[in-house]
Amino acid sequence: MYHVSDVLKYGFCPKLFWAIRQEGSKSPQKFIQMNASLSDILVKKVGLTDVFESYRSIDPAVVKEGLLTKKAVVNGRFEHHSLRVKIPLVHLTQDGLDVYFTTLSSNAKVEDQRYLSMHIWVLESLGYPIHQIKVLSFNPDYIRGEELDIESCFLLRDTFIRQNGKPAGNITSVLLSHKFDFSETLTGMDEVMENEAMKMTIDQCPALNRCDHFESCFQNQYELDQNSIFFLTQSAQKRNFINEGILKLNQVPLERLEGTPLQFAQLMADRNGGLFADRVVLKHWLSGLSQPLIFMDFEWDTHGIPPYKGMKPLDVLCFQYSLHLLRDQDLAHYEFLESGDCRERFIQSLISNTPKEGSVLAYNAFGAESIRLRELGDQFPQYKEELDQIIDRMVDLAVLFTEGIVYLSAMKGSFTLKNIIQTINPELNYASLSIGHGLEAVKHYRTLVNNDDEDEIKEALLKYCKMDTLAMVEILSWLNTIVA
Ligand code: SF4
Repeated sequence: MYHVSDVLKYGFCPKLFWAIRQEGSKSPQKFIQMNASLSDILVKKVGLTDVFESYRSIDPAVVKEGLLTKKAVVNGRFEHHSLRVKIPLVHLTQDGLDVYFTTLSSNAKVEDQRYLSMHIWVLESLGYPIHQIKVLSFNPDYIRGEELDIESCFLLRDTFIRQNGKPAGNITSVLLSHKFDFSETLTGMDEVMENEAMKMTIDQCPALNRCDHFESCFQNQYELDQNSIFFLTQSAQKRNFINEGILKLNQVPLERLEGTPLQFAQLMADRNGGLFADRVVLKHWLSGLSQPLIFMDFEWDTHGIPPYKGMKPLDVLCFQYSLHLLRDQDLAHYEFLESGDCRERFIQSLISNTPKEGSVLAYNAFGAESIRLRELGDQFPQYKEELDQIIDRMVDLAVLFTEGIVYLSAMKGSFTLKNIIQTINPELNYASLSIGHGLEAVKHYRTLVNNDDEDEIKEALLKYCKMDTLAMVEILSWLNTIVA
């Protein structure tokens, strides 16, 4: 028996589907915190009171019976041709079946069409005529007051929306007029599962080296050393190069490259012993920094349902910061970590520990920390001016690497802070910490309240966030040595 996620994996790469089925799947870490059941909310929103509640291991025949007697089933499991789907709510009306899905997003995205189609295909194959299809989404315009108005927090959508925000048609019409038949796909999946040693060629691999299974798929066929063509960035020709046997960066015909600054940096680093730096630009960038230097990093959790006043659905709550302050040669450290509604104390602490002058460095500052400060300023307008002053002094350390101003071959085309610091100073190693990345930090933070190990978890979280700002201090010091 397969689930929708199996079909999606198979569609991406049959070998990936095969490998995960062999190993057994690990539940992914939930990125969005939900402290209520979406299906319960859905039942209220649709206005139903008497429903049949389905469960994980239920026999689909029992669900069918439940639908006939109660006319509505929550989280019903339906099965056809080895595909088992779970549907948040179905309601049998005189006109046919009303089908309700949920999404952890503010819109019913048209990109989900194939995913939803699988469910509809199963229902129709079982002989249920579909009357209408709707999707429960978050209401992006809802702002929580003192009390949560759960009904207003959600909207029942009947229209698909494109990524650019434009409507992409009525959900029911789109899904009922563009039908997919998944029988062939499921038969293909059966065939793959019968394969004892599933093999793929590099040409069939959709992910190249960006897949955890790369080593096992292409063992001994390709070297992934730092000079490998697999790490070439922004190249539409990369797959062709590999197929043509051009496997090293120094073999790439320059006339077939797009010639982006990052590609130039990669090729130059490869030629020059592993380091490229545009020293003129770097020197100019460094000279633009003003003292003292403030290194800033936040951790936050994303809440589907706004937990506190002034928050919207899918807002984030900053629960931790680390701040290193470098004044001449003196390095000081400040930090904050709290649970609950700590937003105002977070702001007050940050403002009091951030000097009124000096550059504020963050990694990916404008995709993360500056957005968080703007959100906090909107929620607490009394601090907006001071928070805006911090934003105005923000400098993004990541651009030096993502724009190809500095490149180390050992980075192997990865521009994360963790990868870069491990390249520059392997002693600053996140692997030595009990919390090694942001999602893990959030997972632990969620367990803080009423936990006997609260002190231990706090200590691990503090060490992790401190490592991020310390890494930035170290990177800046290394950059200075390049232009010295
Ligand atoms: S490395 Fe490529 S072929 Fe192998 S599982 Fe991943 S995506 Fe599929």
